Parts: sequence; C-alpha cells; structure tokens
Amino acid sequence: MADPPLQGYGMENNETKLELKTVPCVRCGYCCILCVCPFGVWDEVLKRCAFLEGDRPGFFYCGKYEEIEANPSSKWSPSFGTGCCSSLFNETRQEAFRNLCNCDLFLWIDDRRPAPEGYNVVAATVSEALAFLSTRRVQKISFDHDLGEGGEAYEVASVIEQAAHNGELDRLEWQVHSANPIGAERITAAMKSADRFWMQRGQ
Ligand code: SF4
Ligand code: SF4
Repeated sequence: MADPPLQGYGMENNETKLELKTVPCVRCGYCCILCVCPFGVWDEVLKRCAFLEGDRPGFFYCGKYEEIEANPSSKWSPSFGTGCCSSLFNETRQEAFRNLCNCDLFLWIDDRRPAPEGYNVVAATVSEALAFLSTRRVQKISFDHDLGEGGEAYEVASVIEQAAHNGELDRLEWQVHSANPIGAERITAAMKSADRFWMQRGQ
C-alpha cells in the first residue's frame, strides 16, 4: 500500500516539492540580539548587532537590509524580514506583538525601497504585511506590488477586500507606489472594491 501523503508539511497530494512554512518576522530584534548573521558585526557595548536599528520590539529593523537583499546568498539563506526562525517560546516576539497592538501603524509594503517619513512599519513580504494587519492597528498602507520571493502585494489587497466585505476590518487609508502598472491596477481595483464595502457600512 502506498504511503499516505504528509499532511501539513507542504507535501500534500504526494507532491515531491518540499515547502518550508515560516511565520512572519515582526521585527522583535531577538535573533540579532542573540547573535549576528554573516553580515552583522557584534557590538560589545550594546550587546547586539551594530546594524540593528530601532528602539523596541516590533520596531527594530536591519540597517543592512538592502545590502543583504542584493547578495545572492539571501536567496538560500534569507535574513531579517523574510521569515522568523525563532518563533517558539519567544517572549520578545510576543512583546513585539503587544507593542504593535498598542499604537497606530502606518505600513509601507516594499522589499527594496526604504519607507519615507510618515510610515512606522515595513513589510517586505505578504506574510509580514498580513501579520501587521492582524493587529487591526493599521491606519494607512502604501503598496509596492512585486515583492520577489515575498509574493505579490495584490494578495494583501485581496485579503483586505474580503475582510472589508465581511465587516472584519475597519476602513484604512491606502495608496499604491508600485512602478508595475498592471500590478498597481490590480491592487487599486481590489482596494476600490474594499472602499465600496466600507462605504456601504457607513465607514
Ligand atoms: S540581519 Fe541585520 S541587524 Fe540582524 S544580525 Fe544581520 S546585519 Fe545585523
Ligand atoms: S520576529 Fe523572528 S526573525 Fe524577526 S527579529 Fe524577531 S526573532 Fe528575528
């Protein structure tokens, strides 16, 4: 008798492709405080990577992110912002969620361009953007479309559209800064549809 498919490990339906499932990075800083990645430099005074910027869990970010992204090794060894490898029993990660749930979030979705003034959190992947959205504190979003390995931001707009339809998410401000005209059009259509659902609910 054939072996049953492995459920929940990305190998359902007897697929041979192995997909590792990661939980999103919420920028708690834990991993860069524990030890440095190959791009980092340990700061003996601060007791953390010298390139870790930001002031509290949820708002830390890697000051070398663009350099890491540009390096071919990031394709097989993803770093900060791509996914969390230290999510189990991680109190610092929980603290990041508590901090994020206690203040208004202005979300910049982009895997390359740094956030301009006015945005206080950055999502480089679809799963990160959805993690920020799940706090229900996002007031404003600016969308890039193509996030490389991180997916297409249209998926985020599509989740928002559905949540607006179901009355699960309050109205938020949005804009699109993607240079991809077709991607921008898809995001705009989904978000305009969300606007209509919010309007029907008097929001
Ligand atoms: S991801 Fe960035 S902040 Fe973290 S250890 Fe590496 S270089 Fe330092
Ligand atoms: S959420 Fe995970 S990957 Fe992101 S900074 Fe914290 S420990 Fe590191």
